[in-house]
Amino acid sequence: MPQYADIALPTAVREVFTYHIPDSLADNVLPGMRVWVPLQSHMAIGMVVEVHDRKPEFETRPIRKVLDEEPVMSDEILRLTHWVHRFYYASRGETIQAALPVGLNFISEKVLKPGPVKEVALILSPREETVLKEIREKGSVPLKYVEDQWKPRGEELVKQLVGYGLLEIWEEPRTRVESKTEKRWLWKDGVDEGDLVQIYEKYDGKKEPKWVQALRRLEERGLPMRQHELEDEPLLDNYSMGRIQKEKLIHSDEVPVGLPEPELEYNPEKIKKLNTSQEAAFREISSAIDSGDFHQFLIYGVTGSGKTEVYIHALKKVLEMGRGGLILVPEIALTPQTVRRFYQIFGNTIAVLHSRLNDRERYEAWLDLRRGKRTVAVGARSAVFAPIQNLGIIIVDEEHDQSYKQEDPAPRYNAREVAIMRGYLTKSVVVLGSATPSAVSFHATQTGKSTLLHLPERHAQASLPEVKIIDLKQYRKAMQGPLAVPLYITIEEVLGRNEQIILLYNRRGFASYLQCEACGHIMECPNCSVSLTYHKAKNHLRCHYCGHTELKRSRCPQCGESALEVHGSGTQQIEEEIGSLFPDARLLRMDQDTTSGKDAHARILNAFGAGEADILVGTQLVAKGLDFPNVTVVGVINSDTELAFPSYRSSERMFQLLSQVAGRSGRSEKKGTVYLQTWQPDHISVICARDHDYQKFIKHELDYREQLFYPPFSRLIAIFFKSKDGTMVQKVAETFSRCLSEAAGNAPILGPSPSAIFRMQGQYRWECMIKIDPANGAGSIEKTLDKTFLLYRERKPEGASRVRITVNVDVM
Ligand code: ADP
Ligand code: ZN
Repeated sequence: MPQYADIALPTAVREVFTYHIPDSLADNVLPGMRVWVPLQSHMAIGMVVEVHDRKPEFETRPIRKVLDEEPVMSDEILRLTHWVHRFYYASRGETIQAALPVGLNFISEKVLKPGPVKEVALILSPREETVLKEIREKGSVPLKYVEDQWKPRGEELVKQLVGYGLLEIWEEPRTRVESKTEKRWLWKDGVDEGDLVQIYEKYDGKKEPKWVQALRRLEERGLPMRQHELEDEPLLDNYSMGRIQKEKLIHSDEVPVGLPEPELEYNPEKIKKLNTSQEAAFREISSAIDSGDFHQFLIYGVTGSGKTEVYIHALKKVLEMGRGGLILVPEIALTPQTVRRFYQIFGNTIAVLHSRLNDRERYEAWLDLRRGKRTVAVGARSAVFAPIQNLGIIIVDEEHDQSYKQEDPAPRYNAREVAIMRGYLTKSVVVLGSATPSAVSFHATQTGKSTLLHLPERHAQASLPEVKIIDLKQYRKAMQGPLAVPLYITIEEVLGRNEQIILLYNRRGFASYLQCEACGHIMECPNCSVSLTYHKAKNHLRCHYCGHTELKRSRCPQCGESALEVHGSGTQQIEEEIGSLFPDARLLRMDQDTTSGKDAHARILNAFGAGEADILVGTQLVAKGLDFPNVTVVGVINSDTELAFPSYRSSERMFQLLSQVAGRSGRSEKKGTVYLQTWQPDHISVICARDHDYQKFIKHELDYREQLFYPPFSRLIAIFFKSKDGTMVQKVAETFSRCLSEAAGNAPILGPSPSAIFRMQGQYRWECMIKIDPANGAGSIEKTLDKTFLLYRERKPEGASRVRITVNVDVM
């Protein structure tokens, strides 16, 4: 019988904590169960990750309570989270917390309980009496509940009663989300048609009372019926149901509500027959499935080439073999069509982990999967941890999408990489798909880690749109607001034909940068090939990778004209300007501001799809929208803003964005045209997007990455420092960077340097980066960082605790 348990706690402390298992709990503590333990001076919920007999050197404290009767986290997910913890250098506890749904995770809460004092000499107010009575009756009540109920004086009230000793504040594990139940109506045992006929006959020739009419309706609809279904039936009101119950014809019970089924069509007959190239791709995946081993695929195929159909066939095969599936999409709200198509074929074997689910629904979905009631999960990033049983296939759609990377909070994982690891651990087939595969995934097909499957053309030969490049240099003197004349004229024509237009205005360049107004050249770092960030205070340009600085000059180094202008922090003006250029057109706008509400995104797209507007103006969000058959022109107002964003991935992102936009237009019989307004018509990303030439782009991109030792040839780790104390943050960044370099065998460090946005919310921000050879796996990164922190702890300057240090492995 093991005596000790290693427990992951939701703190930033990386490692697990060891507690002892008291005799009273012997045999009840297993890995994957949540426990209630003392942590410093309070109590916390933790997850048991291992039980053992290795007596630690320090005095252990006991586990107080076991919160689960059976493990809530499987061995598989424990192993997966362990890997995430190592690979992304996140704490064990934070990682496990990220993998559990709300309601099962590590939330504790303060509760009020009766205190040691039973009576006081004072006269209590009626309010105080009421609160005290309720808490004495119930034994304990959440603090927040009392405070909210007696707002705005709740806090004061509690303070008084606690002060008297009548109440005490305790910390307890939050009770888990309960499954909700609902009333269900059934026929009483033994009731048959004859009984009903008897009743109808009583009223033969007379006017039937309402409850008898209701009874007829019930018979027509058939029972059982859920309470909420009665809402659509005016006859079946509370009175009639009660009256019929009184006749002893029906009765009710309570049943779990369960997960709401999406209101989508279910019709598995509609599975499509694969065309020749789909069939070829499917056959390869199929034989990997048969082998029962891990295998990684990358389906590269333009939008509309039929990748989704291949996913569906592969998933079907896996399900028929009795295994489960996981489908990751960038964001459910942005991919309603993909979800609809999976649901059509697989119906409620699927749990759709929609961001709109409330905590209870999320928990129900999680339970259904854990119990094997549903065998497929569809969801965004965090669904990679969904507790699917006997997993057989993982599909990552739009694998290049940035949203797979979690930036904040820790664990800062990339769901695509976690998916691959999960596939490896479970001997599943992993299928990544994209029209513009990431450099990382494409590279993997060249090194033999992954198999490339190509779907060369659009299904049924729908044509790719024509892409036209507008060189902004040529039209400097011929602009209509933000639009060059050719695009302006085209929009007028399209409006005249009652067709629709999408205009994309990229707002990504949030840091200031310097661009030449004459030739469009953006100032770049000579070492790192990323754009330089303009710092106004010092009037200089800085590379936030390596720290290279240069004074702001007045002449453009490329064309020699003195036309260098500061750009950045985009505005909303564009939308207004478009509005005034086309006063008769109906405009819809889609950006951060207009899509913050629930479902706002889908609402805007639906309105546009329904023809309620002529022009949709929006940020990158529009690129991921639905397909609109009536859209014949797509214009990108500023194609090269992406390049101003200081990142080694700028070209890749720009190519992906432009290609995606290009794929949005002309998906029906009407031919589409895409206009790219750019200062850099010769940029490889622009040219390759115009020519729909992924191969050329990726070759160029990988060459550049290899030369500069960027991912996938290295792993790029960023360390961020921030503090209100500007001097201290610099000192810490410098000390830490030296430790990092030393720990990595004096490997070169980029930086430390001020971040692209140096000040944010009153905090000064610095960063440094290091490129590490990935050949050594997760271990080398973990070892390097462990060693760095060890050195840093010895050398850190006084007052360093005011600086927050975060590690982002595989930073984007
Ligand atoms: P992708 O996922 O690559 O964007 P889709 O799977 O969405 O491509 O396919 C594009 C369109 O072509 C869809 O409307 C789809 O229903 C249709 N389609 C794809 N493959 C077939 C097929 N084998 N038979 C009939 N229609 C197909
Ligand atoms: Zn640099």
